[in-house]
Amino acid sequence: MIWPFRRKSSVKKAPSARRIVIWALIIGAIIGAVDLPRPLEDIYRGGRAWLRARPADGKTVVVAIDDRTFDRLGSGYYSRKHNADLIDRLFALGAKRVYFDEIFSVPLDKEGDSAFVEALKRHPGKVTLGAITFRAREKSQNYIYQPLPQFRAVARVRSLHTSQAPFGLSEELYYGDREGSFGAQSASADIAGVKGEANTKYRPDWSIRVSSVPTVSMLDVLEGKASQSSLSGKDVFVGITAMTQNDFAHVVGQGWFGGVYAHVIGAQTLREGRPVSIGWIPAILLTGALLILITSARTRKRRAAIVAAGLGLGVAAPFVLDAWFVTAEFLPSYIAFGIAIYRLATLREIRDAGLKNSATLMPNLAALREEVLASKRPIIAMRLRNYAAVGASFSDSVESELIGEVARRLTLPGEAACFYQAEDVLYWLGPALPMYELEGHMAGLARLMESPFLISGRKIDIHAAFGIDLDLARPVVNRIGRALLAADNAAAKHQSYLFNTSDNDEESAWELSLMSELDEAIDNGDIWIAYQPQFELKSDRIIGAEALVRWQHPVRGAISPEAFILPAEEHNRIGRLTFHVLKLATSAAHPFLATNPGFRLSVNISASLMELDGLPARIIEILGQTGFPTASLTLEVTESAPFAEHEIVAQNLKAIAALGIDLSIDDYGTGNATLEYLRSVPCQEIKIDRRFVAEIVANNGDMLLVESTIELAHGMGRRVIAEGIEDPETLELLRAIGCDIAQGYYLAKPMRIEALESLLNISARIRAA
Ligand code: C2E
Ligand code: CA
Ligand code: CA
Repeated sequence: MIWPFRRKSSVKKAPSARRIVIWALIIGAIIGAVDLPRPLEDIYRGGRAWLRARPADGKTVVVAIDDRTFDRLGSGYYSRKHNADLIDRLFALGAKRVYFDEIFSVPLDKEGDSAFVEALKRHPGKVTLGAITFRAREKSQNYIYQPLPQFRAVARVRSLHTSQAPFGLSEELYYGDREGSFGAQSASADIAGVKGEANTKYRPDWSIRVSSVPTVSMLDVLEGKASQSSLSGKDVFVGITAMTQNDFAHVVGQGWFGGVYAHVIGAQTLREGRPVSIGWIPAILLTGALLILITSARTRKRRAAIVAAGLGLGVAAPFVLDAWFVTAEFLPSYIAFGIAIYRLATLREIRDAGLKNSATLMPNLAALREEVLASKRPIIAMRLRNYAAVGASFSDSVESELIGEVARRLTLPGEAACFYQAEDVLYWLGPALPMYELEGHMAGLARLMESPFLISGRKIDIHAAFGIDLDLARPVVNRIGRALLAADNAAAKHQSYLFNTSDNDEESAWELSLMSELDEAIDNGDIWIAYQPQFELKSDRIIGAEALVRWQHPVRGAISPEAFILPAEEHNRIGRLTFHVLKLATSAAHPFLATNPGFRLSVNISASLMELDGLPARIIEILGQTGFPTASLTLEVTESAPFAEHEIVAQNLKAIAALGIDLSIDDYGTGNATLEYLRSVPCQEIKIDRRFVAEIVANNGDMLLVESTIELAHGMGRRVIAEGIEDPETLELLRAIGCDIAQGYYLAKPMRIEALESLLNISARIRAA
């Protein structure tokens, strides 16, 4: 018997899904911690900002010190009298406040500088100049760039500190600047009216387009060409935009622009919200959660759905967070997710390969155990009882072709059943039907298997037995075994299908205990032999007897051979039992030969034993011990069609025939013996099964069958014995159609050796008289 659920699974050793996830997350965390993909992250961020592009709110106007302005005033340092003039004109045009993106830390021409001081005095508290701290690694080398004292005294000072990302891919600003005794809010925070931690960065919302910030040329203002409407009520930020100057910033998606715009966009950002930065950790944690969900999902469909949801989240979340001014790093988690999904997919491939039968490519038991539906539906097992013979007699391709054909035949139209194969057993999930309908379903399936299969031009008969497990409460592994057990019980009982019930369980447990008891019984002498006489019809004489094993159990009483012969075959005890019977019977019957020289002893040999290597030698050894001549022995073997095609069986049959032992084909008519089989098996006797014999009087069909079998056997030079004769009519009919030997309750029941002996003596005396 095959116990597929105990066999080691063929799944290759592969890293566990959990290890893959943990490693992917660790790699992601390392990448996040070393800030490795910063430039890529900036490009990704810039790309998103570009997609979300929106115009500036226009509350701050840039007064651009552009190329035209420098052309007119002289490039580089022009006299600050122009700045004085600019301030006066801006306020005249209605400007609210004026900020300079300039530090004024070096003195220029005296006249201009004092004009600037005077102008600042005219607009107290409304003009803001810049300052920047420069931090070196050594504290002593830190610098503070700020306006000259005479300007500081009459103007406000705000920080212009910025932070350029590597490769000029992005730019961040500060809430304020603090260095030693110097401390100043940033110009942008000041414009927005926001207080924030000094030396703390924030990210301007770079979706605000630089090109949309209202801009007026400084020269136009100085020449009186700027309109009141463009400046009235606005804050003004004065800064360099001239291509000749070196005050440029760069942001992905926006290109190069004058540094002044960064402050303007920063101010709008702070007016709209408070940017926060959450780094890479939240995204990695979320990725970890998703990966855990994926690895714990039971179905492919659910896994795919979670992966899709993860991808969707990965795309959407950055946009949503951007809109909320939340800066986060995504690439570490993308990388972790990518690695994990790739590795899990290849892991699945490895495991999927392990979920298939290598010859037929059908899913195997490991796959059935993984099937979620298995715990909700009946599990059906179908044992192909002669599969081993098919496998032995045909090539591999026929084997897999046959399995495929069987599966196809079992697939009812309109149903997509999935079959799982383990050697000679097919499993599948049955329909969720009530018991009585399931019975009809099974009977239908059994009928489907009755006609032969045509595989590569050969007709192959399949002997199938179905078992069904309905106990949904049990673990699937357990149910698979129970379905198979039910199938084997069905086979043993000559039924096409059986459902498991709790009785079956007790039965199998009992079967196992039975086997150890059988061993004891052989040792203790609880096994004895009954002999059923066989009568020659033409002479009306006893010409032999069949030895039938009997077990007198000390507690259970007499146990029928049907109850322990099959388990003994399955649990590998049949050899020991059979040889024991052969020894007892031949030694008991030996003395008869002296008084009844033609006496024949028939002993049953299980078909499975015919595959035993060294069987003839073992028989000879026993006969040597008991002195029983081979010529007086008949071995009864149950017919089974493909068995003669087994190499070892054929060898054994030949060797037995060579020893002079007769072979009888037992239960003839119940199997699938063909003419070819009859011709090839070296037998001397055909024993027609009692199921046919019992019906010959009542059933003309059976009668014809038995008659033609007798004719056929005689034609081949074989004798015919009929078993199961229970009435005189049957006996006479058999005699009339030429049957040679008769055995049955009507003639004599199986009896003890002493009873047989006196029966033989009586008939000998009758003959002598
Ligand atoms: P079998 O070889 O077909 O043996 C004939 C069976 O039919 C015996 O049952 C016998 O008692 C019964 N029988 C005889 N005459 C009649 C009749 O007129 N009517 C009916 N209804 N039955 C009749 P038993 O002894 O219970 O054996 C059952 C089966 O157990 C045997 O069937 C055989 O397959 C197996 N068996 C018995 N002894 C041995 C043995 O020593 N070794 C092996 N391997 N199998 C054995
Ligand atoms: Ca028999
Ligand atoms: Ca029989």
